[in-house]
Amino acid sequence: VDSGSGDKYTFTEVQDVVHNIAGHLQSLGFSHGTNLAVCATNCVETLMLVLASWKLGGMVSLLNPLLKPGENDVRSVVMVDCNRPQYVKLHFEGFPSFVHLREPMKQGIESIPPDVEAGAVILFSSGTTGPPKAVVLSHKNILYGYRTMVEAGAILAHEWKSQIVYQPMSHAYGLLISMVTMIIGASTIIMPRFELKTYLQLNADFKCEVMMRVPPLAVMFTKNSELVAQFDLSSIKCICCGAAFLHPGVAAELLKIIPTKSLKYITQGYGMTELAGSSHWMPSESFAEKHGAPDSSTSVGVVMPNTRSSIRDLETHINLPAYRRGEICVSGPGVMMGYLNDDKATAATIGADGWLKTGDIGYYDSNGYFYVVDRCKELIKYKAHQVSPSEVEDLLLSHPEIADAGVVGFPDAESGELPSAFIVLKPGVNLRVEEIQQFVAEKAAPFKKLRGPIVFVSQIPKTASGKILRRCILAELQAKHGNR
Ligand code: AMP
Repeated sequence: VDSGSGDKYTFTEVQDVVHNIAGHLQSLGFSHGTNLAVCATNCVETLMLVLASWKLGGMVSLLNPLLKPGENDVRSVVMVDCNRPQYVKLHFEGFPSFVHLREPMKQGIESIPPDVEAGAVILFSSGTTGPPKAVVLSHKNILYGYRTMVEAGAILAHEWKSQIVYQPMSHAYGLLISMVTMIIGASTIIMPRFELKTYLQLNADFKCEVMMRVPPLAVMFTKNSELVAQFDLSSIKCICCGAAFLHPGVAAELLKIIPTKSLKYITQGYGMTELAGSSHWMPSESFAEKHGAPDSSTSVGVVMPNTRSSIRDLETHINLPAYRRGEICVSGPGVMMGYLNDDKATAATIGADGWLKTGDIGYYDSNGYFYVVDRCKELIKYKAHQVSPSEVEDLLLSHPEIADAGVVGFPDAESGELPSAFIVLKPGVNLRVEEIQQFVAEKAAPFKKLRGPIVFVSQIPKTASGKILRRCILAELQAKHGNR
């Protein structure tokens, strides 16, 4: 169901439309290794295009429509424009062609032998350092990632008859939820953009059993408890958060404001774009009965099947025992193929042993439940959107009156972190904070806006080798502005 257009498709219709689009793509020469770029707000057509591309063994690049020109760089062969209802416009080598979604395909498609090692999807992530990079996930990565969640019981099909996808499909979480819902055979309700009242109404109308969401939405619920109370959410059995840290106080508050008899638990999952979605997941109660419960409800769960996870010392990289804090590392079939055209960044993230370094700091308890406590990577998460500090710094440095800049995430109870900056102005220049905020707002996607403190300094704290000491910047900002 496309909640924006009101379009509804049965599974059989989805299959026909996907076949139809795949036929058109194949007639354009689309095959293994061809890359289809889709830049659209969440809509049912995006889902169809992803499936059509995969049917042909091809690859699909999902671009965030909020980004401004120049913020994405994917060389694709076919571009898609989903703005016309009922039609998808394909641009191939400059020639547009239209696919009518409901019109049956005249000729069949030539079947393609599957190659699970080939690239299936490109999503963007800044990883542990530097600007956003194109993460290439193979067919195996996603087949494994999505199916395992179902087979491991992480997604309980009997508790999941319909699911609302408001997370952007250009993010690993949105794509994973849409696909897993389809694998289960449940109804996928796609929201083009998030709006709280509509989200609540859809949950009530479709009697959703599980709410998959990001922590900022949990906070939004607690701040709008009167509105939440106006909707019948009695079908909700479980709320599952992922993609950012969930504060335990927020989870407790949520249980109070959705006081249905059926809501049993609020859980978390943990993962990364580079891991095709989820690597750790809170298992069902029966698992805890057999294997023991977590020490605390702040756990992000146990490792997914076929996956291994360790905690490594930040200096020595040696595996640490239970309760010792270090970098969370993951190995398994969900680990990405690599960053497109960036062997250096790939090698810095995936070691020679095939283990991926997440850049997150955590530990595990004696029953094997993991906890995320901090980050040793540069990433800022504003409302679960990734913001790369170095990308915003580069943008700030392109301002003719800025000599240097250091960007960090300032902790914020509502949004997770707010992009904030230390700025060094060129001599004799008099730039105001608002002018800097406006400069970033004009050139970058809305979630990258500098919403936190901006402080003018004479120099950016750096190591002798020139690496920005972000912890120092953050400590100084917190000393001056406190936490929000
Ligand atoms: P992304 O690739 O955009 O999904 O971002 C992945 C990053 O989000 C992780 O490396 C963590 O820093 C953060 N993250 C994801 N899930 C959680 C969680 N449950 N708790 C804390 N941080 C999380």
